[in-house]
Amino acid sequence: MKLNAAFSAALVLAFIAVCLPASSANMVPFETDGDELYVYTNYFTLKSKLDEMAQAHPDIAKVFSIGQSMEGNDMWCIEIGKFSDANYSEHPGFYLDATHHGDENRGTETAMFFIEFLLENYGKNATANFIVENRRTYVTPMINPDGNIKFVRYNDNIVDLNRNYPHEWGISAENQGASAGSEIEVQNNMAFISSHNLDCYFSLHTGTYDLVRPLCDVGGEYRGFRPEPDVVLYDTVCDKINGLIGMGYRGSSGTGESIAWAYGVKSVFSLLMEVCIDQDLPVAYEDARAKLADPLKACIFMAENADRMCAKLSVETVSNSGAEAVFKIKNEGFGPAINCTFGFAGNSIHVLEIGSGNISEIKFPAEAAESDSALSMEYVKIKGMKTQGGNEVGEVIVQSAYALSSDELKSAGGVSTPGFELLALAAGLCMVLICRKRRR
Ligand SMILES: [Zn+2]
Repeated sequence: MKLNAAFSAALVLAFIAVCLPASSANMVPFETDGDELYVYTNYFTLKSKLDEMAQAHPDIAKVFSIGQSMEGNDMWCIEIGKFSDANYSEHPGFYLDATHHGDENRGTETAMFFIEFLLENYGKNATANFIVENRRTYVTPMINPDGNIKFVRYNDNIVDLNRNYPHEWGISAENQGASAGSEIEVQNNMAFISSHNLDCYFSLHTGTYDLVRPLCDVGGEYRGFRPEPDVVLYDTVCDKINGLIGMGYRGSSGTGESIAWAYGVKSVFSLLMEVCIDQDLPVAYEDARAKLADPLKACIFMAENADRMCAKLSVETVSNSGAEAVFKIKNEGFGPAINCTFGFAGNSIHVLEIGSGNISEIKFPAEAAESDSALSMEYVKIKGMKTQGGNEVGEVIVQSAYALSSDELKSAGGVSTPGFELLALAAGLCMVLICRKRRR
């Protein structure tokens, strides 16, 4: 009997243990329905929420794991885009991640609101449509599952994952890990970033309310962001977000951060956003939505403009005065185009820099237009940082070619067309865009 009683008691305990998962013991509060206490997404609810959203939109969303944590918990990611588009793989890549620090749930929640914005508004909202149809969007809402389960900053090695990336590692950081990139969660995220040809990376944290720019190799005790070589690009983007939601920016508070590695080593435009000062206070659902509404706007802005986080030249107009073939070249990107070389029918013109938003007139002698030719453009769109060893990070070169025949150029004679799209329609111009990215 005693054995039976003990067995029964053990069963009851086991049942209670199943019913009260680690979330209870870990102080990660439960969800309730309706407008009562709202609880942030935690590791135990993340996968089912992602699955639910993806299954409602199977044509444009899929959920997968980018790898497992130390304790074997999956780092779930959702990919959103128009998979059926023949050119899908060419779409600019936008990556959003959150919760490198396990107790920063509101970063995860902002990421969840962003996913929800895209999927629930697809077909209804022009911005959501644009992002879904013109971007490859990836969101990993929880980089540190083990830390989230225990509701602590670190992973199970007591390592700060956002100090462990192998760029300027260990210079100014605590709990940075045994060696650069030693942690499996960091390795998984690096492998993901490295293999997805990204144009823009946005990493979410909590604790302050501002944007954080990647560190650069300046030496010394405190290593703030050095405004080279992309200060204009970073200023432009940060100013635009400031104009949108009134958020300021600062330099990093430690070395070995994910954004420093992604920018410095992979030449991906990378920015960190601290979405709110409070870390973990439960609030009503609508309060959470209101609190994170502005950070959500910043995520949408970054996704929408993922292809402008660099210089981006396009032909605004083409005209032929008889004496000259004139191309008006506009930089639609947020960064300057540097060392621009334009080639046309054997002639070459070099322009040192075309600033963000600026238009440059490129003129070739008329005889150059006599033979069939194409305008070629080559420029540096982002340079990246110097690493600790003094090795230059590979420049990212963009090559574009605007192919047009002499007849087509002649047909533009004397007419300054209002826009490239119109001319393209009228003259049947063929635009070929080739991007070649040199990375270390
Ligand atoms: Zn953090």
